Amino acid sequence: MQRTLMLIKPDAVKAKSAGGIIGMLEKAGFEIKAAKVFEFDAALCQVFYKDHLAKEFFPRLESFMCSGTSWALILEKENAVCALRELMGDVMPEKRVPGTIRYHYGHGITDNGVHGSDSLENAEREIAIIFR
Ligand code: GDP
Repeated sequence: MQRTLMLIKPDAVKAKSAGGIIGMLEKAGFEIKAAKVFEFDAALCQVFYKDHLAKEFFPRLESFMCSGTSWALILEKENAVCALRELMGDVMPEKRVPGTIRYHYGHGITDNGVHGSDSLENAEREIAIIFR
């Protein structure tokens, strides 16, 4: 069994998509082990997205992530990290396929509905940051 972190981002919370997203997770066999409703501030965003700090899109990402409430979920399943990345769908809108969360609930590149950890190491790092 593996665990991973999912964020339901401010766009999806505002659009009342959280229930639909959780339904997709449950259907796919993920177990929700913990949940937290919270808001990012700039300091938390800079720690969480430290690998993107120097990227040109970081200011857009930061202001989007700080624009409202997020939900964080600790999810458990066999091979959870890869399984969630697959279910989540691509960061690029034109590459999202039906059946993925971002196809149904994401919009642009930045306002893409959800986050999922991209490795086991990052899953543990991100869980420690959000559920500190
Ligand atoms: P993810 O792991 O699929 O979420 O994608 P990344 O780790 O590459 O990027 C983190 C987040 O930064 C994405 O979910 C987007 O919200 C944002 N992002 C990534 N790439 C871009 C980009 O080229 N432009 C903009 N505006 N945002 C981006």
